Amino acid sequence: MAGLASTRFASRDNAGRIRVLVLITALILVLGGLFSGVYRFGQNLNTEYRVTSETGAFIAATLDHELDLRRQYLETLADEAGDLLSGRYTLNLDITRYLQPRSDRQGYELAELPGFGVNDQGLLTGHGAIPVPGSPEAHEMSMAIGLTPMFRALKRRDIHLPWVYYRSERGFVYFYPPPDMQSGTQRFYKAEDLAAVTYANAGPAANPSHTTVWSAVYDDVAGKGKVVTVSKPLYDHDRFMGVLSLDVRLQTLVETLKVRHIGNATENLVNRDTGMNLLRPGEPALPARILEARRGVPVGDGDVRYLVYPLKSANWSLVVEANHHAMLWQAFRATLLLVGATVAALGCVVLLVLLAGAMRNMQNMSIRDALTGLFNRRHFDDIAQREVAHSRRNGQWLGLAILDIDHFKKYNDFYGHQGGDETLRQVASALQNAVRRATDGVFRVGGEEFAVLVQLNDPAHLATLMNSLCDAVRALHIAHEKSSWQEVTISLGATLIGPDHSLDLDAAYREADAALYEAKTTGRNRYMLSAAAAHFRPAAEGASDE
Ligand code: GH3
Ligand code: MG
Ligand code: MG
Repeated sequence: MAGLASTRFASRDNAGRIRVLVLITALILVLGGLFSGVYRFGQNLNTEYRVTSETGAFIAATLDHELDLRRQYLETLADEAGDLLSGRYTLNLDITRYLQPRSDRQGYELAELPGFGVNDQGLLTGHGAIPVPGSPEAHEMSMAIGLTPMFRALKRRDIHLPWVYYRSERGFVYFYPPPDMQSGTQRFYKAEDLAAVTYANAGPAANPSHTTVWSAVYDDVAGKGKVVTVSKPLYDHDRFMGVLSLDVRLQTLVETLKVRHIGNATENLVNRDTGMNLLRPGEPALPARILEARRGVPVGDGDVRYLVYPLKSANWSLVVEANHHAMLWQAFRATLLLVGATVAALGCVVLLVLLAGAMRNMQNMSIRDALTGLFNRRHFDDIAQREVAHSRRNGQWLGLAILDIDHFKKYNDFYGHQGGDETLRQVASALQNAVRRATDGVFRVGGEEFAVLVQLNDPAHLATLMNSLCDAVRALHIAHEKSSWQEVTISLGATLIGPDHSLDLDAAYREADAALYEAKTTGRNRYMLSAAAAHFRPAAEGASDE
């Protein structure tokens, strides 16, 4: 009973130890995971922003390319217009003959020119009187009409092109494509109708360096949606003649912004002078502090980080608004996945190691006696047979002793069960110390009964060993009032299993037991050898009886 209880306590202790080990390991893993997680998180966040920044740079480059292409068209148009104005070559046609008055508008309109199909020419309208043939106005109109093939080429290149037009300072407008290509649009435009601000911005007062100018976003009067206009002033020597303009649908720019997807971010175009958002005009202006940030480097605080890319071909910047919280979350998810998987894998390895340790422990527990720590009866049964066979193969003698504490019932009755347990432990330890060789084993085979199995090179050594076992217990000097020796003693019975003997383990056990019985009946506190073993007793020795 005591043994069973102790075993149960021992396994509970073990479970406790394993629990502490698992806790410590879990703590180490969690801390390790936390540290590596924080590190990885920082790296992931950097990567998120690096990818955003690189994608932003790509979009900005694509935008610049698109805008620059249009700027170059205008430059080419202006070049061509210059050649026509200078008379390097001229239109062989008197335009004024085809101008028809529009009295309802106090102006005039160009009729279909000979040899031109209905959609081959643009629409020319003017206000005031029809110019006289050979006048500078008529010459300028010829120039505008002369640009028509290039206007057509532009339309072919960009089918979404809203309008390309020339607006003269002299009060006429020529634009392409002609409105009758579309249904329901206005057919007569006075010069003021056509993006007056755009015109003014490109003119001499606002644009002394005569450069290409981009407008703000505005609604097209002919219903082509939101557009921006790029304009180039035309000069004949020093004289300002008018403005060449090319519209770009805002939608075209938005589509260009979408050339690459940026996760957790929106792309915007912002005017560098005003800070106004071209795509969302209602929004408050972006502060200069952000607009002047280093190209592609995230700035700002709170929920939004701005990445700014000034465009070369227009006075705009591409502004990528990254949702910082979403970026954090994205980086966190990537981290969680990696660190979580690593920690889980490590945890599994550690648990396996712990499990292996626990299994080893349990296996150990199953072969040991809980009270004394000696091998138990089951283990004796398991290995004794093997030992006998092994000794036989190696031509070795095997000694088997069975020993029993004397008057232990009385001891228990007098000193109590706990005192008995303690004595059992001390006796077990003394026996174990007396039999130190790895090839020898001490077993607790019953309540206060033990077995000793020893390999012997010389069978005569068995008696010596028995003697030393008795001495070892005597040397403990454990008081035992109810014994005639006044101390705890043991009685032993021993036998030999020889390499050439046919004695099997069961027979040997019976012989040793009989010898023990003899030791008990002849007075206790002694060892007795079986007849076979007694045969090898050294001549000088007798029984241990004193
Ligand atoms: P003998 O000298 O003839 O061996 O007399 P004995 O009293 O030792 O023999 P007996 O077999 O009558 O009594 C053995 C006692 O050992 C009975 C039991 O109380 C005690 N005992 C057996 N196992 C344990 C144990 O685990 N702990 C304690 N304290 N006592 C035990
Ligand atoms: Mg007994
Ligand atoms: Mg006894």
